[in-house]
Amino acid sequence: MNIPQSISFLSPEEIATREIGEQANTQLPDLSRLFKDREIRLRQLAAGHSMRDFLIFMADLASAQHHVLNDSELSLAQAKDTQLPSVEFLQAHAKAGTPPLDPKHWPLDQAWARELEHILAKVTNHLPAQSPILAIIDELKTLTPSQLNDQAQSLLLGELTGLHMGASPFIAAALQVFWVRLAASTAKNYPHQTFPAVDQATVCPCCGSKPVSSINRLGTDVGTSRYLNCSLCQTQWYMPRIKCTHCESTKDIAYHSLVNQDGHAVQVSVVDEGGVSLETCDVCSHYLKIVNMAKDAQVEPVADDLATLTLDLLIADEGYLRGGVNLMMLFGSDAQDSGDPPHLSGSH
Ligand SMILES: [Zn+2]
Ligand SMILES: [Zn+2]
Repeated sequence: MNIPQSISFLSPEEIATREIGEQANTQLPDLSRLFKDREIRLRQLAAGHSMRDFLIFMADLASAQHHVLNDSELSLAQAKDTQLPSVEFLQAHAKAGTPPLDPKHWPLDQAWARELEHILAKVTNHLPAQSPILAIIDELKTLTPSQLNDQAQSLLLGELTGLHMGASPFIAAALQVFWVRLAASTAKNYPHQTFPAVDQATVCPCCGSKPVSSINRLGTDVGTSRYLNCSLCQTQWYMPRIKCTHCESTKDIAYHSLVNQDGHAVQVSVVDEGGVSLETCDVCSHYLKIVNMAKDAQVEPVADDLATLTLDLLIADEGYLRGGVNLMMLFGSDAQDSGDPPHLSGSH
């Protein structure tokens, strides 16, 4: 097997010369495109990929998220039953420089379980009768509201003890839809500076979650600018380049991508990973992926992260830890792992 080398391809100085000044810090997603674009990208990446079945399943899940998020009847029901933050609450957090909708202090609303119910129904419709995923869905349906909440809280707080790893993508999918809706409804109520920059630039200014990856977005006069993509509410926030997204150090930052010695991109499976690279920091030994729209306009922060596990494996061999988290695939993240076999509490 041809093992690609991980080498630097841009100096920090080269990147700094293309950096731009003040940016709109926080950008909420377009609800009508967010999960649809993710589904399309996942299907595109799945073609011929060694993890094809997994990526197709993720695409089906993203499709379910899209339909549930854009279901007008469900949206009305969720709007009626979901508590939103008061303007005083938002102002207090803005003043303190902390994210207002952080699951550590914003209570999990029972209405999230309704998103899960609808997502399970959508996915079930697409699965063949013999699919092993149906057993996981059936198991999830037997959980009491309290047991489901325990699963959700574990996932939100990164405490993997007792979390059913097979069921966690469904829980994550529902929580993402719930938090996307929560952020959008809050921004609609208070459109002026709803989620300003927070003191800790490495977490989401809306919900305080870690990024899944960062994206170099097109659309500026001087090329691209870098945003981090929230793993939970999918908000993107501006982060200058050549700055560690884990410890905020600007020293010893390096960039890596999959290349051969002759400098050409290699094929891993048949996926061209030219649009995805890694930013590593030798101060804290963490890394985060960067998906680059200038190299591939169709890159998507969650989909491209899922499809480039090879990069994670190669950089882990060099001693770097994953700085971000992908709620759809918790293995390989630096979230706490108990080492216990996963099980559903009270279901056996
Ligand atoms: Zn967020
Ligand atoms: Zn660092």
